[in-house]
Amino acid sequence: MHTQPAVEVAGLVKRYGTKTAVDGLDLTIARGTVTAVLGPNGAGKTTTIETCEGYRRPDAGTVRVLGLDPVADAARLRPRIGVMLQAGGVYPGARAVEMLRHTARLHAHPLDVDALVERLGLGSCGRTTYRRLSGGQQQRLALAMAVVGRPELAFLDEPTAGLDPQARRATWELIADLRRDGVTVVVTTHYLDEAEQICDAVNIVDHGRVIATGSPEELCRGGAESSLHFDGPAGLDLGSLTKVLPDGAAAVELAPGSYRVQATPMDPKLVALVTGWCAESGVLPEKLTVQRRSLEDVFLELTGRELRS
Ligand code: ATP
Repeated sequence: MHTQPAVEVAGLVKRYGTKTAVDGLDLTIARGTVTAVLGPNGAGKTTTIETCEGYRRPDAGTVRVLGLDPVADAARLRPRIGVMLQAGGVYPGARAVEMLRHTARLHAHPLDVDALVERLGLGSCGRTTYRRLSGGQQQRLALAMAVVGRPELAFLDEPTAGLDPQARRATWELIADLRRDGVTVVVTTHYLDEAEQICDAVNIVDHGRVIATGSPEELCRGGAESSLHFDGPAGLDLGSLTKVLPDGAAAVELAPGSYRVQATPMDPKLVALVTGWCAESGVLPEKLTVQRRSLEDVFLELTGRELRS
């Protein structure tokens, strides 16, 4: 099997005039994965992806996509990659499904067009021209166009932005099927829950660099601790609780009768220790909750910003 990554970017620099959009960015995307590139507005995601697609030439650094140079080897690379552009790339007067059939015919082993139309809910758009489709339909058509040729690598720019929950789920299922088929999928998204659910790996980009990389679990595990909260009578003796907890765990009374226990890792044993102590102490822990860090928390900590600004 392939050991070479699908995408390898090293020290990428891209400037627009005096503005440095990408500032020494390193990115590796393993074959067969669904990988997200996340970052606040203006972080340099689109510039990076467009450089990988061969639409922009790096000012410095190297970019290899399926082992090829996206600019010098564009003719060999283009048939092997699928690109979903946020807007454009489509003739507005063309009929939606005809355009998809046409694109499918340009490839040796396309996906089944009827099945793709059905699963993305594009059946009713058959003879409608692109410009008359709703925003969500245009979006789903752009996704279909990117993957119908069964590419080895698909770049999907915000594939679910603005879609209703049903279309969003259909898109996730399609991405999961592509992955099962061995397709490498690179997505940019503003939805952190989406990245958490569908991605094997996440790269957080800020100020033109990748500042964190790993699986969603790895990113959520690092850094700050998970916590357990419960309510009970005010003024409990937390010293005796701390004695039964492992080293490094901490218990505090945040407000009278409201308690928090922090520990890394927060595992089922720790929950049992806390509830065991409650039982010994004759305390009924009310509103007992365990909060794991979400990717949203990690993102905020690293960038100091919300993803949607
Ligand atoms: P968003 O989430 O808003 O799409 P992004 O992470 O994709 O942002 P880029 O679009 O790559 O970020 O932009 C990075 C920086 O480069 C931004 O400050 C942007 O204003 C600037 N920029 C992007 N394209 C151009 C251009 N053609 N000319 C000048 N500046 C540009």
